Amino acid sequence: MKILFASSEAHPLIKTGGLADVSGALPKALHDLKQDVRLILPAYADLLPRAGTLREVSRLTVTGSVEPVRVLEGLLPGTEVPVYLIDAPRCFDRPGNPYTGPDGSDWPDNALRFAVFDRAVVELAQNRAGLDWQPDMVHCNDWQTGLIPALLSLETAHPTTVFTVHNLAYQGLFDWATFQSLELPYAWWSMHQLEFHGQLSFIKGGLAFADKLTTVSPTYAEEIRTSAYGCGLEGLLQQRAADLSGILNGADYSLWDPASDSFLEHHFSRRSLKGKAANKQSLQEHFGLPNAPKIPLFAHVGRLVEQKGIDLVLDILPELMQRPLQLAMLGSGQSTLETALRTARTKYPDQLGVQIGYDEALAHRIEAGADAFLMPSRFEPCGLNQIYSLRYGTLPIVRRTGGLADTVVDASYATLDGASATGFQFNSTTPEALLATIDRALSLYDQRTAWTRVVKTAMAQDFSWKRSAKLYTQLYRKTLAA
Ligand code: ADP
Repeated sequence: MKILFASSEAHPLIKTGGLADVSGALPKALHDLKQDVRLILPAYADLLPRAGTLREVSRLTVTGSVEPVRVLEGLLPGTEVPVYLIDAPRCFDRPGNPYTGPDGSDWPDNALRFAVFDRAVVELAQNRAGLDWQPDMVHCNDWQTGLIPALLSLETAHPTTVFTVHNLAYQGLFDWATFQSLELPYAWWSMHQLEFHGQLSFIKGGLAFADKLTTVSPTYAEEIRTSAYGCGLEGLLQQRAADLSGILNGADYSLWDPASDSFLEHHFSRRSLKGKAANKQSLQEHFGLPNAPKIPLFAHVGRLVEQKGIDLVLDILPELMQRPLQLAMLGSGQSTLETALRTARTKYPDQLGVQIGYDEALAHRIEAGADAFLMPSRFEPCGLNQIYSLRYGTLPIVRRTGGLADTVVDASYATLDGASATGFQFNSTTPEALLATIDRALSLYDQRTAWTRVVKTAMAQDFSWKRSAKLYTQLYRKTLAA
């Protein structure tokens, strides 16, 4: 199959979160399954130096762009996957984050930027870019690509479309004036199309117009049809339930495996865990924590936003710090959470390590050196860190939601007995529930043999992309056949 995979970020070119991990790994896995898959991304300034050799293959006239839009072609670094970069300098030639300016707020012209990108993708999808290649399938991801299925629906003949929701909480909402400025059909200003409570919703372009919808875990696919998780879109998702499925994300074990991880000084595996202790020591040093091999080291890496439940960790901090444990946190995001963590660090210098910022290498070293990984998320479409944690023998402590529910097996009497336990789960989004679960983890940690057994079961789990990529190819085939 010929698949055009449209995304607003992809590792290792540009990354703000899990979407980049998926967009870097899934096309590679599809390519390994002999599919003709090509990735298409905006040509952000920060991405170009990492993109290797590029050549201009097309120049497009795109509504909304006052300048011609260049299409650059290269390869996703380290792979044979072709990448098209949409080079519209007024939209993408600016430094920093793909979505936000230096002050952390959204770029004011995000609607125009991603509308230009989506229109350029449509030109390629319709084989109007002179590339002599038309995809059978356009796979769109998150709100930034939401207009693609909608715009394709205006064409008499067009490729089929799959739209994947990586996080329903980000919808791409803009006002009426913006809608008018984008020169979209007026008929789309309707609750059955792109209008959402008086605003233009990019994500509805995907949800209402794509042939099939997916999200990144089976549990999240169920959850988003309820008012608790549907972000106001549950009605539409219920209507489209027959076209909606959940396919769990995988982990790219060529990047995330403690036996070969290039960011680690000390490698280890299920058969030989010695290197894990050495990584723990180096992590304790990095965070300025006492070197204490026997004290359990808990950790978290992630965006500091309400979704991730970091406020719950802050709530229990005084009690947590009375227990024999250390905690290392890496993240960036909401300034209130960043400040609270920095302040807490000064209060508990011997037990709490905090680094504010984005640090890919340290994220790997944390996975390797910690004993347990905290993910008390309010919602979690899939979550990748708990999957990485399993492979690094860093037992995940997670709220039972979305992909966390689908990937972690709670340590109960039954699962410990049956050697299927891989971590700890809790249900309610309360500080008490989190603390009680951490206490459960601490008491298992005291039973070294039992803990090591769970570590080894966790490390044996296989969430490689191959399985998920096969499920996507089955879905593409089914969609094409229909
Ligand atoms: P989300 O997509 O909601 O951010 P995921 O768990 O799916 O959450 O993916 C997060 C990805 O981003 C992981 O690869 C994680 O290691 C990485 N990440 C998040 N924050 C940071 C950070 N501050 N430094 C390094 N890596 C980070």
